[in-house]
Parts: sequence; structure tokens; C-alpha cells
Amino acid sequence: KVRVRFAPSPTGGLHLGGVRTVLFNYLFAKQHNGEFVLRIEDTDQTRYVPGAEEYIIECLRWCGLNADEGPHVGGPYAPYRQSERKPQYRQYAEQLVKDGYAYYAFDTPEELEEMRAKLKTEQNPSPQYNAAARAQMRNSISLSAEETAALLEKGTPHVIRIKMPQGEDVGFTDMIRGHVQFNTSTVDDKVLLKADGMPTYHLAVVVDDYLMKITHAFRGEEWLPSAPVHLLLWKYLGWEAQMPQWAHLPLILKPDGNGKLSKRDGDRLGFPVYAMNWADPKSGEMTTGFREKGFLPEAFINMLAMLGWNDGSGQEIFTMDELIARFSLDRVHKAGAKFDFEKAKWFNHQYLLHADNNRLAELFMPVLKEKDVNASIEYVATIAGLVKERCDFVNDIWDHAFFFFQAPDNFDVAAVKPKWNDDKTQFFRDWAGIVEDLSDFSATALEESFKTLASSRNIKPGELQLPFRIMLCGGKFGPPVFNIAETLGKHETIARIMKGLD
Ligand code: GLU
Repeated sequence: KVRVRFAPSPTGGLHLGGVRTVLFNYLFAKQHNGEFVLRIEDTDQTRYVPGAEEYIIECLRWCGLNADEGPHVGGPYAPYRQSERKPQYRQYAEQLVKDGYAYYAFDTPEELEEMRAKLKTEQNPSPQYNAAARAQMRNSISLSAEETAALLEKGTPHVIRIKMPQGEDVGFTDMIRGHVQFNTSTVDDKVLLKADGMPTYHLAVVVDDYLMKITHAFRGEEWLPSAPVHLLLWKYLGWEAQMPQWAHLPLILKPDGNGKLSKRDGDRLGFPVYAMNWADPKSGEMTTGFREKGFLPEAFINMLAMLGWNDGSGQEIFTMDELIARFSLDRVHKAGAKFDFEKAKWFNHQYLLHADNNRLAELFMPVLKEKDVNASIEYVATIAGLVKERCDFVNDIWDHAFFFFQAPDNFDVAAVKPKWNDDKTQFFRDWAGIVEDLSDFSATALEESFKTLASSRNIKPGELQLPFRIMLCGGKFGPPVFNIAETLGKHETIARIMKGLD
């Protein structure tokens, strides 16, 4: 059975790259009738940020990418927060020590500092705890068995480090990149278990992927350098046959393709990079999200799916079900995917066009509330239907429809050409009277009576329609004018004509 996991560390808001990792996990799981697990990797308590886990869960909910198992829903492998699984990791670290793949290290922070200062050279500005350093430090490899036993006996604080072999080539087959190879000499002796008994990410991710029976692991390309450590741990723990298949997803790049997209690019270029607004609890700094910017979740998801994947047919708009059916890892690119905000807007526009008007109205209500406008949901839905083709975001509705909520006080009279005359004034006075008695106040009926009267007065309807529009909206803009009138209703339409004639 296919089992995948999204394993975020709760260190802040989710970047669009994080959500894309969730999406690819989700698509792969659903396509294979598998299970999608959310696991919170919170063993680094110095990086823990309150609120981040709730944010992640809310984000999955908003995107419609719900996990089958996780801290919020439970499941057969609970708990799903690594801090709550703390007691189980030590035994595996101890087993590695016993088998000669890891060792106790008793070095104090001062000793580590001293080692780094001593070994530091221009070519090697941040010396690692590796085979060379290992020999000079206080650990169960450099010390005798008796010395080690005595230190342990005394309860001397210690960590457990992996003993990286020297000059070995290790590799694996990545589902996206094919064969990937590393030389172990380039990797340091990573800490596996910290002095307080908490595992580091490296140990916890391997142990939990094993215990939770994960079959496929997707993560960002930035984790590729950690892969040799994980590979060796799978091997050393004797679980190599159960190792999940890995896929390292391409980075999301800045719009100009120059490096990895960061939160700062968003601030600088004025687009969101986070899924939803994130207020940093320490600094109070707010980062805008796609949700609050006015993206519909299905547009956001569709856009993310195309960042690094396509089905080869040129099709760009996919429903979630289509994505589940068509997604395939061999069509995920190896190269980074450039983020293009204009394209993201295009996706949102496509989805707005087809969105249900009532739903758009619901989403727009908070904007109206902020502007102290009272309107019924039905009224707002009609308006959304009239203007959505001009909008990229729900919030744009205001710019294209404000005159539905407030009568204009200024009229762009200069736009009226040819010149105004008394016949036209008379036309509108008379038409207002006719409109008063209309039992059918539909756009079609209005247009018909408007044109009939105009032709009986020998005035071109075109010369009257623009003034009518200006009376209703204040300027030369907006959806078809008789639709505006129909939506405003009889009372308001007549009132605006009268005000316009004043
Ligand atoms: N906890 C890691 C992160 O924050 C997970 C990496 C992985 O999936 O192995 O992204």
C-alpha cells in the first residue's frame, strides 16, 4: 500500500514550495489509493514557532489537501508529532553505537569551539566534526572502553554521532533525478541524538519513515545533501529493503530564474509567497498569503501543479480529479521552476470566471463590511456575475462595481459627446416615466423601451446610452448598461436619472 508523508518542521508559515510538496504527495497518494500522512517534525525546539502547526493544518484544509493521518486526526501510527515520540528514538541510536556505526561524543560546547578555531583555515572556514576531528575529540572512538564507560557511569552529558565512513560512494535512484551518488568523505559526523535525548532530524526522519511504513518520500531539492546520511542510517539500522523511494522536487525560482524564490522577493516585487497570511509571533511581522491576496484555492493548486510539472499536452487548467488521474513523477522537471506572478493571476482569473456567483459574493462580503456597505448576498452575487470577467481577484470586484453600492456624486460630463441638448433631457424625463410603469424590469425590456422611445424621437440610441451609463455609474465604465439598471432596480435607476438631469 502506498504511504506518503509531508513532514514539515513547525518553524513558520508555509511557502508556496512547501504547499507544492504537499500537493505532489497528495496527488501521488490519491492516484495509488494510498494514504497521506502529516507528521510534525518538531525535534529542534530552538526553531519551534508557536502557531506554525495550526497554520499548516489550516493551510491543508484551505487547499483541500487533507491528510488521512496526522496530529489533528490521529491514526494507527500516532503520535504524529515527533516531540511526543521522543522515548522511542534512543534505542535506535544505541543500537547504532553497539553495531559500530555511531559513537558517544562528550565534547563540551567550549571544546567544540576550540576544535573549530584550531582547524580553521582559509580553505576550510567552518571545520566539521569528521574523521579527522573525531580522532582529536573526546568520544567513544578516541577514548578507551574504560574511559567511555566511566564517563557514561558519571552521567556525563553526551550526544550520539553517526560515524561517517571515509571515501565510500553511496547512491540511490531518485524518482525524478535518476541515479544520485555521493562520497561519504564530504559529509560530517552528524549528531543523531542530542544530550537531552531528543533525536535530530536525521535520526527521527529515518526512524519514523520506517515505523510509519512510508513507501515514497517527496521533499524539496534542498534536502538532497542530507540523503547520504539517511541512506546510511537505513542501511546501518538493517532496514534497507524497506527504504522509501525518494523524489527530490525541483526548487521554485525567482521570476528571473536567478536563484531560489524567497519571502523577500515577494515583499520586493509585491506578490505573495506564503500560502496564507503569516504573522510572526516574535517580531509581529506580517507576510501576505495567496489566500488573503484573493486567490481561490483551486486556482492556487492548479498553478502550483504546473510549477515543475505538465502532462505534455499543453493543457493548463486541471481540476483536482484530473490532476490525480494525470500526475506522474516522470513528467516532473529536474530543473527549477520559475515563479511567474502574472501567470498565477491568469490562473486565478480563469477560476473566477467559472466560479459560482454566490461563492464569490460570500468571499467579497468582508470587503464590503470593511467599507461599511450593507448589501444582500443575492445582490452581491448578481454584481459578481456582471463584473467577474474584469477581475483577477475577488477583491477587484470593488474597483469594477463600486457604483452598485454608492450612487455617483460626480459625473464625467465631458465624456458625453455629441453635446447635450433639451431633446435629450426630455427623453430621459419621459423615459423615466415609462420605466416607472414597467412591470418587467429586465435588461431586455429596458433596452427595448429605451430604443423604442429613442427612435420615436429620432435620436440615435447610441447618443443616449453613454449619458445613461454616466448617470448610473458616474463615468465611462462598467458592464452593459441595461444590466446595471436591472441590478440597481427601478427605484434606484430612476433616482439616478433624476440626479443626473439636475
Ligand atoms: N522536516 C523536514 C522539513 O522541514 C522534512 C524533510 C523531509 O521531508 O525529509 O522540510
